[in-house]
Amino acid sequence: NNELNIITGTLALKRRTVLDIMTNLADAFMLPYDAVLDFETLAEISRQGFTRIPIFDKVRTHVVGLLNIKDLALLDPDDCTAVKTLCMYYNYELCFVKDNTSLDLMLEEFKKGRSHMAFVRRFSRESEGGRDAAYEVIGVVTLEDIIEEMIQAEISDE
Ligand code: ADP
Repeated sequence: NNELNIITGTLALKRRTVLDIMTNLADAFMLPYDAVLDFETLAEISRQGFTRIPIFDKVRTHVVGLLNIKDLALLDPDDCTAVKTLCMYYNYELCFVKDNTSLDLMLEEFKKGRSHMAFVRRFSRESEGGRDAAYEVIGVVTLEDIIEEMIQAEISDE
């Protein structure tokens, strides 16, 4: 029964973490910071169909920006606009969370409305150098992932 499912799912938000439900970085559709939005790239973005596209610098674990497909609506493929240019123009605030962040906390973050996608990071011992380098992104999580947990069902996309 639906109501019971939702109550059970909502209560479970406290116990579960973003690590349990995130989309693994390997499965995320992302673009490099130095890419250009030529016809090929725009066609691939359209084919993939995601609303938000994380932007990485050199290695995928180093997420530096985010594009929203609505930002691309007026682009002319012939202009070959640089991803970097759009990233700097829109400059979306990125939300990074630790992999052990509980889903109820994550939901509170999403409700604040700054971003509906968060980047899940874990401490990585390999890079002990810089302060930032000690963390690497391992996945992405969106509001939809959390809602699916609450209703305990998959949401089929249109
Ligand atoms: P969209 O609006 O792009 O369909 P949603 O926020 O509704 O994205 O999330 C749907 C599912 O797709 C979630 O499981 C989410 O983790 C995943 N997702 C969102 N963006 C990406 C992306 N760029 N690459 C891979 N998976 C993604």
